[in-house]
Amino acid sequence: MPCDVNYLGEGIDRLVCIDLKSRGIIYPLYEAARSLVNKPLTSTAAKLIVENLKAKEVVIITTGFRLPPLGVQETDGILGAASLAKALRTALNAKPILLIEENSTAVLMAILKSLGEKTTVVLGLPTRKLEEAKEKAEEILDEYSPTALIAIEKAGCNNLGEYHTMKGENVTNFHTKIEAIVEKAWKKGTVTLAIGDGGNEVGMGNIKEVVERIVPYATQCCCPCKSGIASQSKVDLLIPAAISNWGAYGIQTCIAWLTQKPEVLHTSEMEQKMLKTAINVGAIDGLTRKNELSVDGIPMNIHLSFIKLLQAFLHKENLNAKF
Ligand SMILES: [Zn+2]
Repeated sequence: MPCDVNYLGEGIDRLVCIDLKSRGIIYPLYEAARSLVNKPLTSTAAKLIVENLKAKEVVIITTGFRLPPLGVQETDGILGAASLAKALRTALNAKPILLIEENSTAVLMAILKSLGEKTTVVLGLPTRKLEEAKEKAEEILDEYSPTALIAIEKAGCNNLGEYHTMKGENVTNFHTKIEAIVEKAWKKGTVTLAIGDGGNEVGMGNIKEVVERIVPYATQCCCPCKSGIASQSKVDLLIPAAISNWGAYGIQTCIAWLTQKPEVLHTSEMEQKMLKTAINVGAIDGLTRKNELSVDGIPMNIHLSFIKLLQAFLHKENLNAKF
């Protein structure tokens, strides 16, 4: 019987990277990120969190991707952020602080409420000016001194500071300049992690060469900046996943195993509640851009089954195998 979380992580990494939509980019993104650490990524992330984040310490979780033409929050990332916040509080008694664009706070708060998470703090970030974002970053870091920062499907800027969708559209005005806080936190010694699925999210700077080689619009976008969608920011550990929410769920599963608390991974019923809530308050599928019960073009039932597959890693014998 395996007794190392990295063995569990091998299976979970494979699961969270399954390319059901055949988008054609996740396997090389995963390989590139994995080659930087030479270990499974979900379990490495879980270990990094469990070993560093002590009770009552703050973990900043940031998400937020808003799509044109109206700047509406998508369903990917936001569910992972909410469930991971609950997981870290449950597993480690940590204090999660969630950062998202001001206009997306209502969606995130509704999702947290659907999970019964009433104590998690949600802070709305300004989107207009870089200077404003920098000031806010300074304030937040001074006030909360986070031990860890985790970005999940967080819109990341290119080398000119412009933000783009996977289709190469410019969405700079919809997004907070989150790099100000990620870079500053990293310099202060905060452990930084990022989950992404497309190459235009925070953290993808770790594997920028591969992103530029394989992701459409990576080097040439459709906006006047002409500099491409590839994100430039770097983090301590990047975890690519076929769908960013899945990456968060995979990490939750490894933390559940490490802490012997299966409840750290939410149930498929909770997943259903979260997605229904997100849709009820106006979020859209990032791929279809419709207000429908799906994430990245994959219908709700698949996500519910996905949670059940992850739960299968946490059966009794597997949990007890640790001891
Ligand atoms: Zn551009």
